[in-house]
Amino acid sequence: MFIANLSVKEALDSLRTSEEGLSSAEAQRRLKEFGYNKLEEIKRQSVWLSFIQEFTHFFAIILWLAAGLAFWAESQAPGEGMFLLGVAILGVILINGVFSFWQEYRAERAIAALTKLLPQQALVCRSGKLQTVPAEMLVPGDCIVLEEGDNIPADCRLIESAGVRVNISTITGESQPKARMADAVTETSHLAAANILLAGTWVVSGQCRAVVFATGRHTEFGQIAHLTQAEKESVSHLQLEIARLSKLVAAFAAILGILFFAIGTAIGLSFWTSLMFAIGIIVANVPEGLLPTVTLSLAMATQRMAKRNALVRHLTAVETLGSTTVICSDKTGTLTQNKMTATQIYIHEQLVPVEAHAQYEHEIRLIQNAQYCHNLKKSLQGKHYVLLGDPMEIALAEFGRKSHDFGDIPVESEIAFDSERKRMSVVIEHEGVRWLYCKGAPETVLPRCRHIESRGNIRELDSAGQEQIITAQNTMAREGLRVLAFAYCRLEPEQMPQEREMTFSALIGLQDPPRPEVKEAIERCHTAGIRVIMVTGDHPQTAVAIARQIGLVKTEHPLVLQGEALRKMTGAHLHLLLESPEVIFARVTAEQKMHVVKALKRKKEIVAVTGDGVNDAPALKIADIGIAMGVAGTDVAKEASDIILLDDNFASIVNAIEEGRTVFENIRKFMTYILTSNIPEILPYIAFVLFKIPLPLTIIQILAVDLGTDMLPALALGAEPSDKKLMQQPPRPAKERLLSWGLVARAYLWLGMLEAAASLFVFFFVLNQSGWEYGVMPGKSDPMYMQATTACLAAIVMAQIVNLFICRHPRSSVFSLKLDYNPLLWQGILVEVALILLVVYTPWGNALFGTYPLDLSVWGLMIVLAMGIGLLEEGRKWIVRRYFSD
Ligand code: ATP
Repeated sequence: MFIANLSVKEALDSLRTSEEGLSSAEAQRRLKEFGYNKLEEIKRQSVWLSFIQEFTHFFAIILWLAAGLAFWAESQAPGEGMFLLGVAILGVILINGVFSFWQEYRAERAIAALTKLLPQQALVCRSGKLQTVPAEMLVPGDCIVLEEGDNIPADCRLIESAGVRVNISTITGESQPKARMADAVTETSHLAAANILLAGTWVVSGQCRAVVFATGRHTEFGQIAHLTQAEKESVSHLQLEIARLSKLVAAFAAILGILFFAIGTAIGLSFWTSLMFAIGIIVANVPEGLLPTVTLSLAMATQRMAKRNALVRHLTAVETLGSTTVICSDKTGTLTQNKMTATQIYIHEQLVPVEAHAQYEHEIRLIQNAQYCHNLKKSLQGKHYVLLGDPMEIALAEFGRKSHDFGDIPVESEIAFDSERKRMSVVIEHEGVRWLYCKGAPETVLPRCRHIESRGNIRELDSAGQEQIITAQNTMAREGLRVLAFAYCRLEPEQMPQEREMTFSALIGLQDPPRPEVKEAIERCHTAGIRVIMVTGDHPQTAVAIARQIGLVKTEHPLVLQGEALRKMTGAHLHLLLESPEVIFARVTAEQKMHVVKALKRKKEIVAVTGDGVNDAPALKIADIGIAMGVAGTDVAKEASDIILLDDNFASIVNAIEEGRTVFENIRKFMTYILTSNIPEILPYIAFVLFKIPLPLTIIQILAVDLGTDMLPALALGAEPSDKKLMQQPPRPAKERLLSWGLVARAYLWLGMLEAAASLFVFFFVLNQSGWEYGVMPGKSDPMYMQATTACLAAIVMAQIVNLFICRHPRSSVFSLKLDYNPLLWQGILVEVALILLVVYTPWGNALFGTYPLDLSVWGLMIVLAMGIGLLEEGRKWIVRRYFSD
């Protein structure tokens, strides 16, 4: 018995259900029996494997080599201190591996948590009531309602359908939509049967009710194993760049190490001493924590964005967002509230406000049209039915119902709405007569009208009458109203529905106020150098009026391009027109929207595009950032997007862009921070080799700096809040490198040099205090020498604390930045101070790092020098602000 071969009734019976659906209790029972409607969790990479990977990547291998070299050296010449060095490097590998793993793991968890925020929903009929449930709760026997744009959540058999076409390309690869209807068929395969809807495919058009017969792994889709493999998260440009950069720095470190080894041996240092320096330099320079810190700060940004109602589906989107130059936005629902009310009506050749509904009670054709020509669903809530669906249709249905409620009249058939046709029709039978009711954009309805009805009289619609209607339409549109035309015709008993020779009955103008936050958001875009282009299916004058209300259009005559004109335009022409400062696209279809996006991309713009319908999917995919609506959006649009707006609000896009820009800046901040400390780590070695001074900093102490100071504070910089000024600058060029020469110069040649000078100064200060003279080489365990290296180490740490504040902004004064915004900053400093105190003042800290407790006066000197660095940097920032600000 194949379900497709059964009649609707037999199919329902065979699943022991009815059109009313299952009862909640029965659904619960079946859920226990059949399990959740989801495929087995995709096997993620095992945690252990990820853990091991942290110890086998490029840097780790360099470090393993260095450790191996140290142990080999120890075996060749015991007692040179190589064993301890080897152990220390192993310690670095371990700490780094664990730290990176922890960060990656946290980042992954954060993203996984986000995807759970928006589970797929299904509209299901249980005990006769329509309700929304998570798709994974569906069980065989459930009756579900589907419409255009819905993903089909389980294998089901149609029980009622209107104009349903499905796209089954996910299963067959064929993208041509297939018609589906409820009648029994003789085919015996799921794919060929025209009354079967398969999970994983989606509804292109129409609407239907269907009964579920297979869920989860038992669906066709569930059985095609290869389809269950999730798409691999692509690696972002940013991550690639960091990886490239890290390798570069590591290679630089290796070359420097080899160079030093050569110089050391050339100037007569012992082989072992030279080798130790070479290893030290390599270890000091490898930027171990960089990549995981970047990933984590991206992940943290996605969490912040989610709090601001933008759900990021791909990590890559975060950085692209930051460089967005153009936003193409829909009007309805994104810029406006999508709260519609019918406010004006053109009827009996007069344009009047909609006031008392009772006055339309005799306009039977108009009222029935408003009441039945829609795609709404009824849902029982409490004792009343409420309508679910497009707010415009709800407003119209309400208008009809309030004027005169004709009760439940079944819709016989429907000619569906799409953005190309811009109209829809239904056929109903009332008092033995079949009527076709059509509503839609006046431009597409009027040419199909032959008559006009006025006060019960029907007469020819001549050109004067048409002109009058168009004038009324324009008057309403200029006030920002969305205008719909209503027409009807009488059908003979067997006549096919047709939208021809209709009788025009009225125009209704609906008000949809702009969202209150949008005006400010648009202003922010303007100051941030981001263009906003409205791309709407609505009438040009409505579009301009709304654009004016939200501050998108300020000039007298903005350029308004209509879909029709677009169709005939060459690419070059459109390219040129896009240069106008104020452009609005009106009456465009989804396909034309895609052309606009393509043209903008050809102009090298970074384009963010919003969309909600099935037809928007190509534009969403093609754009640099596809933004789907979380509330009004279809599943298909959501799947094609990079970002989902949980509140459909334009202002949330702008917030997300701000976060995107912030991430990029924050990564630069912690890179400056991390790179700065490399110089006071390297310079002592160079000074040692070139000037024959005692070595100011041992390798183990370098590691204490890298692991003690750089890790947590770097992370804190990654979590810095947005800087208001970021949205007052033009977008960052997409090709702009993360590591600019300016950044390198500031970190290495300025801040790094200052830190090196301060730490060397403290080193010599302590040496001199104990009577050291140039040329004397103290022994490794000489307390005076140990105190001096300890002072050098502590001086670097102190300078890094000040540097943390310095790195919060490349130009603004430390004092202009709020200190209480980022708790991680203080935590980082706290850990840093605690660590250095442990290293300096505990016996095991002394033993491990070769340190010696310091006098208070030395700390005083260090703090003064660190403050001095802060002051010098303040001076530099002041000069930059004063003389180089643009
Ligand atoms: P936006 O792109 O800003 O969301 P839109 O919603 O007006 O604009 P479409 O959905 O493509 O864009 O609609 C285009 C036009 O089709 C509308 O301006 C309206 O005149 C008409 N229209 C929209 N929805 C319906 C509907 N449900 N029934 C009949 N006509 C409709």
